[in-house]
Amino acid sequence: MDNTTLIEARDLSRRYGATIAVSSLKLTLRKGEILGLLGPNGAGKSTTLKMLAGCLAASSGSVQINGIDIAENPKAAKAHLGYLPEQPPIYPELTVDEYLRYAAGLHGVPSAERDAAVTRAKQSCGLSDVAERLIGNLSKGYQQRVGIAQAIIHRPKVVILDEPTVGLDPNQIREIRSLIASLGAEHSVILSSHILPEIQAVCGRVMIINKGRVVYNETVDTQTRVSNVILGLKRAPELSALQNIAGVSRVQTLPSGQLRLTVADGADPREALAAAAANNNWGLFELRAEGKTLEEVFVELTSGEITIHESLKEAA
Ligand code: ADP
Repeated sequence: MDNTTLIEARDLSRRYGATIAVSSLKLTLRKGEILGLLGPNGAGKSTTLKMLAGCLAASSGSVQINGIDIAENPKAAKAHLGYLPEQPPIYPELTVDEYLRYAAGLHGVPSAERDAAVTRAKQSCGLSDVAERLIGNLSKGYQQRVGIAQAIIHRPKVVILDEPTVGLDPNQIREIRSLIASLGAEHSVILSSHILPEIQAVCGRVMIINKGRVVYNETVDTQTRVSNVILGLKRAPELSALQNIAGVSRVQTLPSGQLRLTVADGADPREALAAAAANNNWGLFELRAEGKTLEEVFVELTSGEITIHESLKEAA
């Protein structure tokens, strides 16, 4: 594990009785990343985050936080992380200040540094104006900010946020999203969501989880996979010659005369097509990929029966 890897989960599994909630999951979080775990309800996101945060024992597999094994040395490992569970651990009868001071103590911030830590967390989360208010009287959006503030109060390297915008109204969602994006400057972040635009708005990388397994793991800016290739050839060969190229699963002739090649899942035959066109003098004049949006990928990977072995990508 190099020194830029902050979370390394290997072969992580969790059963609840006969239910396999998470199965052989591999996950890496590097310094500076905001990673989104996306998946339908019941996919295993919360279970994964609880295991990463050391709040739930894995049935098998291991988690290292900043190089420290969380099962062997939970206290030292947890010092590097902050966690906002799905149900925020907030106390309605305390003021924001009282609660954050308490949270600073729980996270081991020395008493001489607690005031400064509380002030900093309030500033980062936009809570300075409500410091004296009772948490129970705050809006859900502000309560969520308090939950995030307690997760960052000890300046952990890693922040884990479970469905941080669930139950918020659209304005609150926008505020929390921009707060999360700003956390990325100082912390590495993992957040879960079942909402695609949320992940696209704040995350640099997305892992799609379905039925406890990672079925997709890509950076958001390269989120389109090649699904079709449009090919223009002046001297097209028999279609079977194209069909035989690795990664091409189907060839159609379009009304325009160009060819549309359907690409096998995860393959990219463009280089092979260009080489074949040059070698065989097919007169290549167009070679263009049509991609799938993340939404199409998400729907495809999480609805109906999917073949895991085809779509499983190495969690790099
Ligand atoms: P997500 O966060 O993606 O909605 P969860 O991790 O909460 O998914 O749940 C994954 C699976 O594990 C689901 O089938 C859920 O019903 C099951 N599960 C979660 N927690 C428990 C539990 N405490 N006891 C039994 N089954 C559970």
